[in-house]
Amino acid sequence: MVVNSVHWFRKGLRLHDNPALQEALNGADTVRCVYILDPWFAGAANVGINRWRFLLEALEDLDSSLKKLNSRLFVIRGQPTDVFPRLFKEWKVTRLTFEYDPEPYGKERDGAIIKMAQEFGVETIVRNSHTLYNLDRIIEMNNNSPPLTFKRFQTIVSRLELPRRPLLPITQQQMEKCHTKIADNHDQLYSIPSLEELGFRTEGLPPAVWRGGESEALDRLNKHLDKKVWVANLEHPRVNTCSLYASPTGLSPYLRFGCLSCRVLYYNLRELYMKLRKRCSPPLSLFGQLLWREFFYTAATNNPNFDRMEGNPICVQIPWDQNPEALAKWAEGRTGFPWIDAIMTQLRQEGWIHHLARHAVACFLTRGDLWISWESGMKVFEELLLDADWSVNAGSWMWLSCSAFFQQFFHCYCPVGFGRRTDPSGDYIRRYIPILKDYPNRYIYEPWNAPELVQKAANCVVGVDYPKPMINHAEGSRLNIERMKQVYQQLSHYRGLSLLASVPTIQEEAEPPMTDESQTSSGPDSPPRDPVDNEAAGCSTAPDSSTVCASSTFALHPDLEDTLNCRPFQTPCTYSHTQASAAVTSTSANHPLSLAASPSLASTPIQGTLSRSKPSSPSSSCPTLSSSSSPAMTLVQTFPKRKSLARKVRRSQRQRGRQICTPSGREGERRAEEEEREDTGGDKRMEEDVEQDEERMEEETSEKLAGLQQ
Ligand SMILES: Cc1cc2nc3c(=O)[nH]c(=O)nc-3n(C[C@H](O)[C@H](O)[C@H](O)COP(=O)(O)OP(=O)(O)OC[C@H]3O[C@@H](n4cnc5c(N)ncnc54)[C@H](O)[C@@H]3O)c2cc1C
Repeated sequence: MVVNSVHWFRKGLRLHDNPALQEALNGADTVRCVYILDPWFAGAANVGINRWRFLLEALEDLDSSLKKLNSRLFVIRGQPTDVFPRLFKEWKVTRLTFEYDPEPYGKERDGAIIKMAQEFGVETIVRNSHTLYNLDRIIEMNNNSPPLTFKRFQTIVSRLELPRRPLLPITQQQMEKCHTKIADNHDQLYSIPSLEELGFRTEGLPPAVWRGGESEALDRLNKHLDKKVWVANLEHPRVNTCSLYASPTGLSPYLRFGCLSCRVLYYNLRELYMKLRKRCSPPLSLFGQLLWREFFYTAATNNPNFDRMEGNPICVQIPWDQNPEALAKWAEGRTGFPWIDAIMTQLRQEGWIHHLARHAVACFLTRGDLWISWESGMKVFEELLLDADWSVNAGSWMWLSCSAFFQQFFHCYCPVGFGRRTDPSGDYIRRYIPILKDYPNRYIYEPWNAPELVQKAANCVVGVDYPKPMINHAEGSRLNIERMKQVYQQLSHYRGLSLLASVPTIQEEAEPPMTDESQTSSGPDSPPRDPVDNEAAGCSTAPDSSTVCASSTFALHPDLEDTLNCRPFQTPCTYSHTQASAAVTSTSANHPLSLAASPSLASTPIQGTLSRSKPSSPSSSCPTLSSSSSPAMTLVQTFPKRKSLARKVRRSQRQRGRQICTPSGREGERRAEEEEREDTGGDKRMEEDVEQDEERMEEETSEKLAGLQQ
């Protein structure tokens, strides 16, 4: 029997480690590689020009690699459900292959195509290669529910066999066996569209900072591994100004589009480690970043509402404010905080920002300053990030906004101190906000505090040439921490654990010093490090480190000083907090994670990735805080460990003492080490309790998720 194969590319835009493509070639008489793209959808989708350009470059690269094997890529305009019946008949297709898509929308789409193929008598072969592990297996090993703490996830993964070894790239010999005649008018019929054809205006478009495609991905992999010689020592380079810029070793967009196989990255890291460490088996932490990716994929795979608050059983229902004007200022880099504006400008211009820069802007938008829903931020990232990935993006936003997975809500990023510590020279700001280029270092992170003469001399008067800060950060973040605390107080589970009793009334911590480690081992929200670091890193460098916000009526955590080093505003805050005392509105009382009504709380088209057409998520209306205290509402949340809370409080007390006589240098470090030892020695029982609680919460969540899937 003649075998006419079609391999359908969606993600997985590569010829190396492509098991589904290998299946297409296996014993086939003809093979055609197709990519289906709907030009109409391109205009409607919430995907920015940079990501489209990246995709088109990846397709061009694929086509040129296939050409070298005497084949071509067939780009077909339309929707898969319309396109396939036509192709099945026209090309007498007998076999259809594609990579397994673990996302709920992708599974639904693929289910429909498999059914349709069956009706046409076409065999379908689907292979997993976008993730390291079989996610269903992880879920199965966790009593049929996704692990919702990274720790639990790691425990399960450590019990699994190693990921499958990557496959070699497709060879000419393989292709020759199933040669397909390419029509003379192939380019006319199946060419890769231009950005213009997709409806984008390209005049004045600067060259791409990230070039799409498998060839570029493999080049980068080599550089990435060269840079990662530290893997053997498990050292983590400190994040500095350079880390903030697009790096020739960055891989995330390539993993997102599957230009690079995650298994190839995994095994290269593993082998490098074993070579340098003389065959020592690497610890799981070596693959930290890749595991975070798997973690979010696993959490999302059976949850179609993973990218929204309502109807999402793992998401705490938080009464976010609706503030389109503030959202637009944030998204367009007009907040008046140079650190935030520079990050958002880089994101818009280049399509990539550093992990901790993502932390900074995500925190600012949500629980830190603006109290706007993570869904809105996620949609902006979805549009602008080259690596925007449905599962990872939504998961990271939920995390950062304390909506799921983790709730160090008393830990906030300062939009002044955080940037200043990372890039004390302010060069990053000058690059992306050139209007501020002549500001002295001292004021570049807080230009509103520069004397008028300095502003004029720098040719940039705040309020005229550059916006005034849209919010008084010190006040806003304090208020929001209090709001978040109240949200969590309503979760009976947290109350039951008396967890909040150990949270200082109001506490804002200095950010962790930025190290690349924070991406590796600690994941999306790394815990603050040693207090000695904090002191060294932030407080003393601020222009007026002794100034504490005059309006502060709260007991301040000493770490908060860093935040307050962005001195009280000399200009009135443009953002109103009067809503903060408004009553809670009730709109979704039945939600499993709804909270008890709290009179003191403020009430307040993602078209999927390029290879799919996921319907836009409905914008969330301000959800209810219901008075339910059912166990269900306490599900899923991992909470700050009591041990670490207790440690924080003690550390805070010690620091207060230390402020009077701060030990410096080695002495400080020694003392901090001793304290750390002392901290970790105790509280064992408490930690065990918390772990049991986490497990119980996961069980409860599983039940909810099971309900959702039915
Ligand atoms: C609010 C927010 C949104 C994010 N949205 C995305 C997104 O849409 N897509 C995305 O790939 N990453 C996202 N991340 C995670 C992370 O910021 C990026 O993966 C990372 O910055 C990519 O940089 P890199 O190329 O240097 O990756 P590396 O540090 O070299 O890591 C290699 C790969 O590991 C994965 N990875 C690394 N860190 C994480 C992490 N914390 N969580 C999950 N996976 C990780 C990525 O696939 C990355 O390509 C988000 C983080 C935050 C805080």
